[in-house]
Amino acid sequence: MAEGMHSAEARRSSSTGHGSGHGHGHAVVVGGGYAGLVAARVLARRFDAVTVIEADRIDPGAGPAHRKGTPQSRHPHALLARGAEILERLFPGLRAELAAHGAPLSDFGCFPMLYPTGWSPRVTTGIPLQTFSRPLLDAAIRRRVLALPVVALADRTHVDGLVLDAGRRRVTGVRIRVRTAVGPAQPPSHRTLPADLVVIATGRHSRLPQWLTDAGLPAPAALSVDAGLSYASRVYRRDAAATDPDWQASLQATLAPAARRGGAVLAIEERRWLVCLFGADGEMAPTDPGGFAEYAASLTNPHIGQIVAAAQPLGPVHRYAGLGGQWHRYDRLRPWPGGLVVLGDALCSLNPLYGHGMTVAAMQAVLLGRELNSLDSEGDYRNFQRRAARTLRFPWLLTSSLDLGWRTEGVPLTAALSRRMLHRFLRRIPDDPTLYRRFLKVQHMTASPATLLIPSFVRRGEGSKGTRSKGTCSKGI
Ligand SMILES: Cc1cc2nc3c(=O)[nH]c(=O)nc-3n(C[C@H](O)[C@H](O)[C@H](O)COP(=O)(O)OP(=O)(O)OC[C@H]3O[C@@H](n4cnc5c(N)ncnc54)[C@H](O)[C@@H]3O)c2cc1C
Repeated sequence: MAEGMHSAEARRSSSTGHGSGHGHGHAVVVGGGYAGLVAARVLARRFDAVTVIEADRIDPGAGPAHRKGTPQSRHPHALLARGAEILERLFPGLRAELAAHGAPLSDFGCFPMLYPTGWSPRVTTGIPLQTFSRPLLDAAIRRRVLALPVVALADRTHVDGLVLDAGRRRVTGVRIRVRTAVGPAQPPSHRTLPADLVVIATGRHSRLPQWLTDAGLPAPAALSVDAGLSYASRVYRRDAAATDPDWQASLQATLAPAARRGGAVLAIEERRWLVCLFGADGEMAPTDPGGFAEYAASLTNPHIGQIVAAAQPLGPVHRYAGLGGQWHRYDRLRPWPGGLVVLGDALCSLNPLYGHGMTVAAMQAVLLGRELNSLDSEGDYRNFQRRAARTLRFPWLLTSSLDLGWRTEGVPLTAALSRRMLHRFLRRIPDDPTLYRRFLKVQHMTASPATLLIPSFVRRGEGSKGTRSKGTCSKGI
């Protein structure tokens, strides 16, 4: 077994064919990032053994840390209401645990957002806003998943490809390359790890299309939309002596066709600010301190520049460019081998500005659990891939139709119409708290997009305009 194996190795017996215990044998999850861990949580209820394979070195005893395989952890991650609900169900007490580490919690409606059409109304919505660093979230989830008796982590272990049966109808394992522990450099060892189910959760740069073609199977078609988006982020100290502002987070959105610059500032655990400067359509915030501060000061939202000008930086600026969206249509691929599932960013990487990635990955993990309840003995997961594709329809339509606004030609009609509708909502939101609340529920995936099509919301000037019902925001962090 892999050198980096932690936790449940002694309890696990690798098997092919369904075993005893929970009944489904051995599941291998490739990728120990967010989606892989949430999937492992769900699989642990149904499989006798679950092995999470991760290329990076992970010390489960260590606290939150950045690592090479998840460079996005340097940047802000907002967890939408639907994702937060699912995580709380899968990991009871998670929200309180993050709060105990100093991750502030308030109402999403109290989060000032500046659109090119004006400021969002500051009203309570009942949608929680908890702000934390991505390493804090990952560490909390990882600790809970690795404590499950059937789960084992094989870190410093790289998957190089799939193993299929002779007829190429079923995946029976993965090819792994194991790096040795500390000490003199030794060549990695190669071997095969058998599995009854292989879950691919290898993130945005997943090699699954290549692994399928290496195995003699077709690769999926992919939909791509590139808004030329980049993030540049830096952490600052939130001075205990200074008065906290009356907001926990503040944002300026980029929006086609003209708003190329944006940014966000979030209060995160350990009394820190996480500041991120966005650039769209090829615009990029500089990574040198002077250029970063100038870019922040150039934004219309004053909160971001104020923090950058006044707070003490705690490290360098980190940039992540090339944030295009890509949806691999595995749901349409024929043949789809048995015993194989793909989810998370490996299935679809979305424009991160709209914050759907972690939520759809959680929804997909829950769907996988349901699918396992009715699975046939062939281990055919085509239904799962079809259902997983449904979780992506709304976020893909939202993000791609807005992002296609940077293009001047070749925009599909549905995308152009949705963009017109979204722009109409954005023009009305600054003056219409009721519409804003409903819009947020749709964006957070707790209400159907159809709720925005109620005639009074669609027709301009009717219905809810100006109704400042329920609470307004009084306090910040
Ligand atoms: C800049 C940025 C900001 C974002 N902001 C938000 C946000 O506000 N809200 C939100 O919900 N989402 C956000 N996202 C999206 C979110 O980060 C992803 O949706 C989420 O991380 C997906 O998890 P994943 O497990 O699929 O991928 P990852 O978290 O990227 O994990 C993939 C893992 O697979 C491992 N791996 C890869 N290949 C192999 C291999 N061959 N063998 C073994 N291990 C391998 C990697 O080391 C890594 O640990 C953002 C993304 C970016 C880039």
